[in-house]
Amino acid sequence: MTAHEAYRLLQKGEISSVELTRAVLDRIDTVDARLKAFLTLIPEQALERARAADALWAEHRRAGTSAPGLLGIPMAIKDEICTQGVLTTAGSKILYNFVPPYNAEVMERLHAAGAVLIGKTNNDEFAMGSSTENSAFFPTCNPWDLTRVPGGSSGGSAAALAADETIFALGTDTGGSVRQPAALCGVVGLRPSYGRVSRYGVIAFASSLDQVGPITKDVQDAALILGTLAGHDPKEATSVDLPVPDYVAALGPVTLQGLRVGVPKEYFIEGMQKGVEDAVRAAIRVLESLGAITQEVSLPHTDYSLPAYYLLAPAEASANLARYDGVKYGLRAKEGPTDEMWAVMRETRGEGFGAEVKRRIMLGTYALSAGYYDAYYLKAQKVRTLIKRDFDQAFKQVDVIVAPTTPSVAFKIGEKVDDPLQMYLADVFTLAQSLAGIPAISIPCGLVDGLPVGVQIMGQAFDEARVLQVAHAYEQATDWHTRRPPL
Ligand code: GLN
Repeated sequence: MTAHEAYRLLQKGEISSVELTRAVLDRIDTVDARLKAFLTLIPEQALERARAADALWAEHRRAGTSAPGLLGIPMAIKDEICTQGVLTTAGSKILYNFVPPYNAEVMERLHAAGAVLIGKTNNDEFAMGSSTENSAFFPTCNPWDLTRVPGGSSGGSAAALAADETIFALGTDTGGSVRQPAALCGVVGLRPSYGRVSRYGVIAFASSLDQVGPITKDVQDAALILGTLAGHDPKEATSVDLPVPDYVAALGPVTLQGLRVGVPKEYFIEGMQKGVEDAVRAAIRVLESLGAITQEVSLPHTDYSLPAYYLLAPAEASANLARYDGVKYGLRAKEGPTDEMWAVMRETRGEGFGAEVKRRIMLGTYALSAGYYDAYYLKAQKVRTLIKRDFDQAFKQVDVIVAPTTPSVAFKIGEKVDDPLQMYLADVFTLAQSLAGIPAISIPCGLVDGLPVGVQIMGQAFDEARVLQVAHAYEQATDWHTRRPPL
């Protein structure tokens, strides 16, 4: 059931929030031992909130007033996002005991809309990864094939949603972590424009790239959740003060007459899985059948997005992660006298961070160090500008750009863990949009050997409405989004 369907049934009084919440909790009981999508569950608090939501619904029905858009609807939240009073680990041992004293702004907005938190989902440690195998706790499995990864770093959210353990979920996307797991789990994942959604209370990985995005069962839900999350937050300096359109109303009619769709030649590369390319090309033909005019476009600096991202993101991460020192919160590996705090910090960071996080801190520290700064960090920033200009140029000719989300379907658990470069390549198609700050959505467009494929639709900065409209039109003309894993 989607959030908009649940809302309709709640409105009519045909179901209650308690029933809905029990249903997802029962489902979690049945499947999560195999899937391992959740790090923390809060069933009692969830049911309490659901009972309160039912009381509010009763009032609204009696008074004939309209209830907040997510009243009584269960949600699962990535463990990168701070939830007041609920353990938030970022998938890291260094935060194994961190209970935030405040909510992220996105949580405040979801609570105001009436949504019911059921638990926190697994992710790669500090959102660094593409498979959820970098979680300090355990890997999550893909519900379509339990021997495969769900993608990452928001793998827990995507797997939980695909397995019907929640009605909707949130992820964070720094270089693809909402879109890539959504593609590999056969659900919808939207990365908003940089600045569209507040990062306040979102555990920082790379601050110039991080964005929160909805992971949902269909495009209408993506529009609904984005509308709830989006908008200026005075607490967050990079959140943008622009009006928030009614994204659901903007979904509009199911025609794409005259829409100009760009197909970037650099995104159909040697080495990508044949079945994935076929599914994406078929999706492009569906857009044409709805009236869209496709044309080839070029994003010439695409090849540089991976090296630029893997300098900039680790550079920012190395600074952001300096705060985990065993002093202020989280793990403290040992005690020591004040004049030997350096030893406490060294031991805490040595024990608390996993291998991938340490690799990023070293890469980033190196790229930022005097003597290398110009050659690496500054150079990467310049390349970032060129990548952004590629998109600016392309959007002079077309309204949206369509490409694959990932080069392959879900890979096997363990397949890439010993080869960081192979793991980084899983995000080869989702890095450039992050660097350019533009919105992009991944929606299901096929199955290859029973495993989902995602097609990615990108738009100009702050043109989420258009991206959603195109995705919605495609979805209305196809039924890939209704397929469910055989779990
Ligand atoms: N896989 C990419 C990385 O490891 C992207 C992760 C993300 O978007 N959080 O950095």
